[in-house]
Amino acid sequence: MVKDQPRQQPHSSFTREGRPFTSPVARAAKPVYPLDQLTLYETCALSYRYRYLDHLQASSLAPSTLESTLARQRQSIEHFLEARIRQALERLYRDLLHTRLLSLEEWVAGYEKDWLEHWDTGIQANYTARSLAPDLAPEDFLAMGRRCLEDFYRRYAPFDQDRTLLLEEPFELDLYGDSAYIVSFPVERVAVAPDGSYVVHLTSVASAIPGATDWRTLWRGALACLAVQRRFSPVAGEVKVIRHDLVFNREEILPLDQEALSQLILCTSQVIDQVENSQSQQLFPFHESAYCEDCPFYSLCPAKQHTNRLVRLLPLARGRDVGVRLADQYVTLHQERQRLRREYRERLARIQAQMREAEETLLDYAQRQGLGAIQGTEHQVAIKEQLALRFPPGLDGERRREALEHLLRLAGLWHTVAQLDETALRRAFAAGGIPPAVREAALELVEVEIQPRLEVIATGE
Ligand code: SF4
Repeated sequence: MVKDQPRQQPHSSFTREGRPFTSPVARAAKPVYPLDQLTLYETCALSYRYRYLDHLQASSLAPSTLESTLARQRQSIEHFLEARIRQALERLYRDLLHTRLLSLEEWVAGYEKDWLEHWDTGIQANYTARSLAPDLAPEDFLAMGRRCLEDFYRRYAPFDQDRTLLLEEPFELDLYGDSAYIVSFPVERVAVAPDGSYVVHLTSVASAIPGATDWRTLWRGALACLAVQRRFSPVAGEVKVIRHDLVFNREEILPLDQEALSQLILCTSQVIDQVENSQSQQLFPFHESAYCEDCPFYSLCPAKQHTNRLVRLLPLARGRDVGVRLADQYVTLHQERQRLRREYRERLARIQAQMREAEETLLDYAQRQGLGAIQGTEHQVAIKEQLALRFPPGLDGERRREALEHLLRLAGLWHTVAQLDETALRRAFAAGGIPPAVREAALELVEVEIQPRLEVIATGE
């Protein structure tokens, strides 16, 4: 997510007491952004464009590589499993709302029935191809879900830790209370504990590392927490968010204090700003990550298209591909440049060490002889004196540097000694970290253009 750029008042998110700040002047209303969309945008802006702006359907795309299809299919099964488990949990707690407690056998049987009813033939068809990589079968996922439910049931039955208020409830959260940033999302379960406190329950099934809470879960939890706080204000008070990791039979309370919540609100509004910047500039860069293996637009993506095409060619035909030849030619030159740079750096370091030694000897000689210049055959080495400013090494030096910067700012001299950091400015532009008004004014002064930058990535065979 975008890191913090302090937002200007009156746009601040919360008062010190943690109450949402409401701007007295409501700004123009913006669309409601589903959290799923924002999450996809944060994962990969290009994938977001394909899905939500171009409305591409995964099924309309050409199949990609077998390997990646299989990998993505595996993800699909995990998502399918997660959906079935959430449905089972919903059924369990909905029955409990009517004071009916399903037995473990009834509950698991319902889950299995639901699995069979919803099992997608597309998943099945693609899955058949997985016999080439026979690690996990669909039955293994089904069994994993069964075990998750059994563990959950044994751990929490008779489910009287709290009383359910809402199940799979849709929420809309107006981040700053001025209709400028509205996010929508469902909340799995909201309950009231015996001490009267409110609890949000989240389930995760696809987690690979026990205890690891990824940014998506934290984001989901934070917004759910705020939404419940507001809807049940003032009785809700502090809302606890519990994440249930069903695969590892664990639960954890998400670390969401007011500071973290207000930070996540700020990040959410910045993501919305970025989405809108992307739309106005029509800039949706791809971002490669582990998610690519789960991306339905893999075969369409410029980052993956060529690789995708090649894997379906025989090795001989691959060697004849123009793209392969161009890339190989570029990589050879790139490696040669790297080798020369390395040699140059090593040589330079050797020469610099020799020069330091020669300099010391020469200065020593000049000092002993009382000379200000030493004559060679065709050149003279003059000894000039210049002012040097140094900070002591380590923490003390950093503190002094900061103090000096502060002093210069106070004295109004900062502009005399500092200059524009173009790299930092470029990053701020790309990350949408510049307020729209400043951005517009800046665009009057600089020209922005998208330049391609080549990067060599080792992929192996
Ligand atoms: S394959 Fe990866 S980089 Fe390409 S659109 Fe999908 S998520 Fe983005």
